[in-house]
Amino acid sequence: GAPRVVVVGGGAGGATAARYIAKDSGGAVNVTLIEPTRQYYTCFFSNLYLGGVRDMDGLGHGYGTLAADYGINVVHDWAVGVDRDAKTVALASGATVPYDRLILSPGIDFKDGAVPGWDVSAQSAMPHAYKGGSQTELLKAQILAMPEGGRFAMVAPPNPYRCPPGPYERVSMVAHTLKEINPTAKILIVDPKANFSKQALFEEGWQKHYGGMIERIGPDFGGENVSVNPSEMTLDIDGVVEQVDVCNVIPAQKAGEIAHAAGITEGDWAPVNAADMSSKMDEAIHVLGDAAAQGDMPKSGFSANSQAKVCANAVLGALTDSRVFPAKFSNTCWSLIAPEDGVKVGASYEATEEKIASTGGFISETGEDEATRAQTYQESVGWYAAITSDMFG
Ligand code: FAD
Repeated sequence: GAPRVVVVGGGAGGATAARYIAKDSGGAVNVTLIEPTRQYYTCFFSNLYLGGVRDMDGLGHGYGTLAADYGINVVHDWAVGVDRDAKTVALASGATVPYDRLILSPGIDFKDGAVPGWDVSAQSAMPHAYKGGSQTELLKAQILAMPEGGRFAMVAPPNPYRCPPGPYERVSMVAHTLKEINPTAKILIVDPKANFSKQALFEEGWQKHYGGMIERIGPDFGGENVSVNPSEMTLDIDGVVEQVDVCNVIPAQKAGEIAHAAGITEGDWAPVNAADMSSKMDEAIHVLGDAAAQGDMPKSGFSANSQAKVCANAVLGALTDSRVFPAKFSNTCWSLIAPEDGVKVGASYEATEEKIASTGGFISETGEDEATRAQTYQESVGWYAAITSDMFG
């Protein structure tokens, strides 16, 4: 029969890989996509929802077109185990799915004990909103319910984590909302990192749009020594207790649990070969996106989508003898500081023996004029439409 590709995770990496393999093989490869949710809510642009710039419906995408127009066998279930000798994936329902090649793109899970006092059972009191959908809605509801002059706190994550500028874009969008509805409210960022992505651009923007609203405590002042008490709504920052109204805890991260269950991780992430995103521990398994330890690319939706196309081409080459092109990757991370005030950072990459290696990048400059910033924001709007149609057809 036709060779079988099984993809676990229907997000930026997995949906793209499934679609490209189905499309480019013209039916010669049998593609199964395993994803528990029927509607994928993007994390990308979820901060814009917090800022009132996008609505939640616009962030949701279904799998109907992948099934109907691309012939992908979409299975709404959790993968719970991988038998690498038998080459099968076990599903929560009890079913077993055989593969010739397995592609894992499960995204992230949180590291246990990363923020003392917090675990997923506390995510209703102190949301992470670092996976899409209901957590983001909950965080927004909490922001809208803050008392006049109340305090919003964020516990930022240590490196590496998904979307390096994401926490700081979030602070910008929360500040924008508060400036409109609750202008005496304050934002406190507790950060274990000395520096962060696009820092000069964010700090300039915060000064310009939200002067006096945002305070950040870095590691020099105890930002890496924080615990929380979700029932009291307090943070303990190096011995100093702060009472807050909303607390967004973004814990340290690791590859999605199924990558660990498959036994292809080293520490927190799954090491891969750059040329085809194959696991360094099993050549029949490929790992995409946030879960992969691949080298220089940041963990982003753009990166996962770019890696998925390289992987799809290589997998098709291996299974059907179609032509394989040299691996080239790219990424851009846009962030919105205020409506129409967009900034970006990005780079191009190639595959070396050792890793995905940067071949050069770019970043917005401080002091840019409004027209340039509005243009940068418009680019991101175009990118959102393009990547979601590249993923879901
Ligand atoms: P995901 O897209 O998370 O997909 C993983 C999928 O796997 C999920 O649908 C999940 O349900 C499924 N899954 C997990 N485990 C299993 C299992 N055992 N069985 C079956 N299915 C499973 N990136 C950008 O490029 N630009 C941005 O502007 C941007 N903004 C962001 C803002 C925020 C607030 C956040 C949190 C992230 C942002 N990102 C952005 C990052 C981006 O969302 C991720 O890097 C990207 O989604 C990673 O793709 P992935 O395929 O690795 O994982």
